[in-house]
Amino acid sequence: MPYSKTNKHFYPMIDQLMAGTIDELNAGKSKVTCRSGCGYCCYLLVEISWEEASELAHWIHKQPKAKREEWIQRIKQHAARARKFFKSHKHGKNFVAPSDEHEDVPDDLFADYADEVNKPCPFLVKNKCVAYLHRPTPCRLHVVTTPPEICSHCHEDEEQDIKVPRKIVSLQKTVGDLMDKLYKDQRWGQMSIMVESVLKSISKK
Ligand code: SF4
Repeated sequence: MPYSKTNKHFYPMIDQLMAGTIDELNAGKSKVTCRSGCGYCCYLLVEISWEEASELAHWIHKQPKAKREEWIQRIKQHAARARKFFKSHKHGKNFVAPSDEHEDVPDDLFADYADEVNKPCPFLVKNKCVAYLHRPTPCRLHVVTTPPEICSHCHEDEEQDIKVPRKIVSLQKTVGDLMDKLYKDQRWGQMSIMVESVLKSISKK
C-alpha cells in the first residue's frame, strides 16, 4: 500500500487505467509482450518527483536494519554512477541533482544513459522489481508490443524499433499532465539521485 495520501489514490487509479488499456490492446492485433521476469526497461533513465522518491525511501526504511543498510548502499552506488554520467554529458547538467523544474529528459541523454550507465535500477533483483507496489508512475505506464529482446539496448538488430502502442503514449501524456499538477512545487530528478536525497533528508530529522 503506498504511503503518501496522493499516491494512495493516484497509483491505483493509474494501475486501473493501464489494466483497461492493456485489455483493449490484447483484444486487438497489437498484443502486449511485457512479462514478469523481463527487466530490460529497468535499465532506462527514470525521472521522478520528490513524493515518488519518498515512497521508495519509505520502503527502504521499513526493511530490517541489515537489509536497510544494504539498500542504502545500492542507492548510493547507483546515484554516484548516474551523477558521473550526467556530469560528463553535455545535456546532463540539469540532472546532476534534484531540480525545482520538471524538465523532460532530452532524447540523446535518455539513449546514452542506457548505453553508458549500463546498470539496472537498484530495485531490480533477479529481473524483478522488489519495490513493485511502490514503484513510481513512469514504471507503471511502460508497456511494449514488440519482442522483449528488442528492449535490450544491446540487441543485435538496430533496424527494429521498440513499439509503445499509441493508446499507451496517449495515456502517458494524460497522466504526465496530471502528475505536473499533483506533484507541483516538488523537486524532480533521476530515480536513484532522488531517493538518495530523500534518504539524506530523512536521516537529518
Ligand atoms: S522501480 Fe522497479 S519497475 Fe521501476 S525501474 Fe526500478 S526495478 Fe524497474
